[in-house]
Amino acid sequence: MPGEQRLAKWAIVRAFQCEVCGAELFYENSVCVTCGSAVGYSRQQRAMVAVNADRPICANLNRCGCNWIADPASTLGLCFSCRLTRTRPADGDTVGLAQYWVAEAAKRRLIFGLDELELTIKISDGSSGLAFDLLSSTHGKIITGHQNGIITLDLAESNDAHREALRESMDEPYRTVLGHFRHEIGHYYCQVLALTEERREEFRALFGDETTSYEEALQRHYSTGSGRDWQDRFISAYATMHPLEDFAEVFGHFLHIADTLQTAEQFGMLSDQSAVPLEAAMADVIAKTWLPLTKGLNQINRSMGKPDLYPFVLAQPVIAKLQFVADLIAKAH
Ligand SMILES: [Zn+2]
Ligand SMILES: [Zn+2]
Ligand SMILES: [Zn+2]
Repeated sequence: MPGEQRLAKWAIVRAFQCEVCGAELFYENSVCVTCGSAVGYSRQQRAMVAVNADRPICANLNRCGCNWIADPASTLGLCFSCRLTRTRPADGDTVGLAQYWVAEAAKRRLIFGLDELELTIKISDGSSGLAFDLLSSTHGKIITGHQNGIITLDLAESNDAHREALRESMDEPYRTVLGHFRHEIGHYYCQVLALTEERREEFRALFGDETTSYEEALQRHYSTGSGRDWQDRFISAYATMHPLEDFAEVFGHFLHIADTLQTAEQFGMLSDQSAVPLEAAMADVIAKTWLPLTKGLNQINRSMGKPDLYPFVLAQPVIAKLQFVADLIAKAH
């Protein structure tokens, strides 16, 4: 099956090294701390490379700390990730720009993860494709969400105190900017991959009828809540609101798992016995690799007096939904 071949790539370890001196580099580096060479992430090569005249760094380096190599297709000298941003804070908006800096780093991580899964990312041409509006509610109400390929993020979410207050008031166990991006991109791929002729029935069997009124669902969710036993069927309380939110939550969660497993493998944190490849059945990946890893990571956080890194419970129906997402991605092209 072609899907299976492609899925095997999920487990590719991305150990980044300086091209000049061979020292270890992290994906976020723009300078090698060992030899001082300017480095950047090449999306084309999926590797950290030395910056030179043929491979200039993104023109947004000083605007948002972007360390990606410029996309040759950009007339503005921007990288692929920055090209996806349709709207950003104005040059004089120091508060908005500081928040944008944080958000773009999370967005690069998002795009990196999608590339690793070999999902097609098409920059919006106005009628189809993907674009981001990164706007701060410091200047007026901004609602984080997705509509027809346009993802809006309230940049105020980049502010730790603000986001943490929201997380507490909504009684959520987890809230991050990266998590927002992964959720919202879930809505995009839901349209592109899941709500198709071929897949719609399967989608409805797992998540429910996506045509049920969103407005009513929203009102019901905020007036009556999620119900007592939501953890038996859903990944989060928010997922109970509407089938489309359920899918976005599960899709985002799948991206968390894929990225975290890749990182764990890269740093030798998976024992040979526990390392089930990501292309295996999701139930096996979860039981043999993911749960032992996250149990350990939670204990490490507790050792440092931090809340659990992975505050989620995965019931069997949630694993079935994750399997659906895994299959969608495997057969995406
Ligand atoms: Zn170096
Ligand atoms: Zn960039
Ligand atoms: Zn949503």
